Order: sequence, then structure tokens, then C-alpha cells
Amino acid sequence: MTTLSDQSVAVISAGASGIGLAIARALHDLGYALFVLDVDATRVGLFCETFGSATATVCDVSDPAQVAAAFEIFRAQHQRVDLLVNNAGIAGPQGAVEDLDVTEWQHTIDTDLNSLFYMTRHVIPIMKSQRTGAIINMSSNAGLAGCPHRSPYVASKWASIGLAKTWAMELGPWNIRVNALCPGSVSGPRIDGVIDRDARARGLDPDDIRRVYQRQSSLRQFTDPEDIAAMVCFLAGPGGAKISGQAIAIDGHTESLTNWQDP
Ligand code: NAD
Repeated sequence: MTTLSDQSVAVISAGASGIGLAIARALHDLGYALFVLDVDATRVGLFCETFGSATATVCDVSDPAQVAAAFEIFRAQHQRVDLLVNNAGIAGPQGAVEDLDVTEWQHTIDTDLNSLFYMTRHVIPIMKSQRTGAIINMSSNAGLAGCPHRSPYVASKWASIGLAKTWAMELGPWNIRVNALCPGSVSGPRIDGVIDRDARARGLDPDDIRRVYQRQSSLRQFTDPEDIAAMVCFLAGPGGAKISGQAIAIDGHTESLTNWQDP
């Protein structure tokens, strides 16, 4: 589909479910044209059924060749890009660092860190020619603190903030803003899986682990995907016009991820 030249265009990685889907839905409601890259063909199909006017393409964003092919499709459809949300990220292996598998480590870094580079390098020339644009790296509150048993995830999420701050400096002269978002535990199947794996690794009851996760937040609750989507819309809109180079926590306030002694 060729978009109207005045319609804002958003690119979202991993936008076919979870937080990315909530972001896509919110931007769609604001009138954005959407271009989603997601590795899951079934979810991509469902996305296309739901958002008839949007494009979703099957793409593993940890593979630079697949990302390049997806952006060929993008450039054939769109002349501009107003917003890139580097949302893709997997939880990665959980366990003591000395027990982690090297292949799983590399896959997590490829998906959660390297994909940001593979994606962003395709939108920058377009945004520079427009002299405007916004980029959001989906970090985590595990990018603001240490988080035991999550080493490759934590390394990627700290790095995504470093990239946001660095790219904000590189791209600011073109009026391109770059920020990182740091959700806490977000309600949904993904955090349920993290809790289950953690409970198994520690030999504890999942409900006890869930209470520990919830107590990490001053508000004593998980964040909802819609909370993240609302912040994306704010940053992409006029309210975010002067905000760049920031790591913004959306986590009900979390000071520490280390209170494991008292589940
Ligand atoms: P999720 O596990 O629900 O997955 C969302 C989508 O990612 C799925 O549709 C999946 O197919 C897609 N995906 C996975 N690997 C991909 C790849 N290599 N290429 C393209 N698509 C891929 O994820 P989520 O919970 O919605 O998390 C989204 C982002 O938010 C991630 O970066 C995650 O680290 C971050 N985050 C999540 C939480 C949380 O509690 N869920 C907390 C903090 C940060």
C-alpha cells in the first residue's frame, strides 16, 4: 500500500503481539501507517487481518539480511518514516552466569542488541532527509540495575540505553530524537514464562516468585502493555518534541531487582 504523503509512518519490530502490538494499536488509533516486522508468521497473519491497511512482514530481526529485505519492501511502500520502535527482545536464558549456554547467550545478544543496529541503520538516511524523526529503543528496568540470573538480557538492555544516548547525540542536529523506555515487569504471557522458569530454577512456588516481582515496584503491581504504548505516543507527539537521550522508566518505581532472599 502506498501511503498518503502527509500520513505519519511508524516501523515497529516485534509488533505482532505483546507490547509491540499494544504500541501498534495505539499508533493506528492516532492515524499512523504501520510497518511491522515479526518472526512469527501466524501472528503476522493475524496482525494483517486486524489492521487491514497496515503492512506486517515475517522477519527475524536478529538476521541483518532479513532486515535488509524487509526494508526493501518498506521503501517500495513508503516515502517517509516518522517513528521507529526497536521493540524486539527475548527474555533469554536464565541461570547463574557460569551455567549459561554460549549459543543462547549469542542468540539473546543478536535479538536484543544487534537487531537495534540492523534496524536503525535503514531508517536514519530517510529521517535525515526529512530532518525529523523519533527512535525508541525498548530497554527494561533491567537496563537500569543489575538483575541476577539474567546476564545476556541485562547486558543488552544496558547497551540499548547507551545506544539511545549515543544516537541522540549523533542525530540531534537533524532533529531526530532517540530515547529508551524501561518497562518493569509487564503483565502478559512473557512475564508468566519468566516467573515459571525462575520458580523452576530456584525450586520455589511461582506465586511466591510473582509476589517478589510485584514487591520490586513501589506501586506493587505490573505495568500493562498499554502504559508503554501511551509513553510511545507521547514521545512521538508534540509533548516529546524536546525529549531526547533519555532512559524513561515505566515500572511503578523500582529501586532494586535483587530482593530474592524473601519470596
Ligand atoms: P514477547 O515475548 O511477548 O514477544 C513479542 C513479539 O516478539 C512476538 O510476536 C514475537 O514473535 C516477536 N519476536 C521475538 N523474536 C523476534 C525476532 N528475532 N524478530 C522479530 N520478532 C521477534 O515480548 P514483549 O513482552 O512484548 O516484549 C517486547 C519488548 O519489551 C522486548 O524488548 C522486551 O525485552 C521488553 N520488555 C518486556 C518486559 C515484559 O515484562 N514483558 C519488561 C521489560 C522490557
